[in-house]
Amino acid sequence: MSANLTPESRLPLPSSSAKIPVLGLGVCVSSRCEQSVLSALEKGYRSVDTAQIYYNERETGTAVNKFLHQNPSVKREDIFVCSKLWETDLSRDDMPTSFDELCNAGPWPLNSLEAGHTTYSKQAALDGINKSLKTSGLDYFDLYLLHNPRPGAEARHQAWLGLQEALKAGKAKAIGASNWSPAHIDALMAHSDVDTLPAVNQIEFHPWNQQRVILDYCREKSIVVTAYSPLTQGKRLNDPVIKRLAEKHGKTAAQIVLRWCLQMGISIIPKSDRDERISENADIFGWELDAGDMEEIEKLDEGQKGNIGEWDPFAYE
Ligand code: NAP
Repeated sequence: MSANLTPESRLPLPSSSAKIPVLGLGVCVSSRCEQSVLSALEKGYRSVDTAQIYYNERETGTAVNKFLHQNPSVKREDIFVCSKLWETDLSRDDMPTSFDELCNAGPWPLNSLEAGHTTYSKQAALDGINKSLKTSGLDYFDLYLLHNPRPGAEARHQAWLGLQEALKAGKAKAIGASNWSPAHIDALMAHSDVDTLPAVNQIEFHPWNQQRVILDYCREKSIVVTAYSPLTQGKRLNDPVIKRLAEKHGKTAAQIVLRWCLQMGISIIPKSDRDERISENADIFGWELDAGDMEEIEKLDEGQKGNIGEWDPFAYE
């Protein structure tokens, strides 16, 4: 399978007729989102990952619509756009209005669930996807995710009922989760009014946090794992094993890590705002890591100790 991977390769999604491209562009903390998305689409990317909390659904949708306008041979259905529901309504007056403002807002007070403004209810989740669609200027999302498990089991259940309705109404072609553990998915699926398995679980995933428990579980259920922060935000690319493999294959450390993710059977959404890196991160087809390379990288796993972000799926009830 991995030898046959091409930039056009897609993975089938459960509970959906949509397929997710193995490679997409992430746009969290993008300083020039519209330009980067356009650049990626011009270089052959066909998938983009945004979210309400990135404050760039508008730029993402604008770039997609511009690209489609400029390239009539490419159809909307050729491009895969994912967005995510944040746990609180960011359109409220007391919420930050940009990602920068959010980061400088201190320890979550503005974002707090204790404020009681959660979007993790059936109606608020439906309202949330409608807001995302309006902001982005898109008619539908290919994938819409609940961004995190934090609001709790019953809140996740209620928000999921909202996404199920959105799916049936055609507002999303597939719905999924992010940062969820197997227990979160099992608890969701135990409800009699839940009839849709999450199509995707988007989680932090890279050689130093290989998420084996979640990966095994998702493989068994045919849920696609999407790797976020696959490049560890650049933090671990100096690893001597990765550097040696890069030399062996005449590739960069980033390409080795991304290729390894693909060969693990998952999809990836590396972020870059630099045209040359957007190209570099897509140049991961037509060659492959051998079984020995894969084994060496497998040994780098540090489990959740290797987590570089804030979301450990097992840390939430
Ligand atoms: P990432 O993709 O691992 O790394 C991005 C960082 O690496 C940027 O600073 C980028 O800088 C740099 N970079 C990109 N290509 C490079 C290369 N070839 N060589 C060296 N450095 C390179 O991290 P991420 O942005 O955290 O994750 C990717 C996407 O996943 C996000 O954009 C977002 O869409 C999604 N995400 C989701 C969640 C979630 O909770 N669901 C959490 C985090 C991220 P330049 O831009 O300057 O190139």
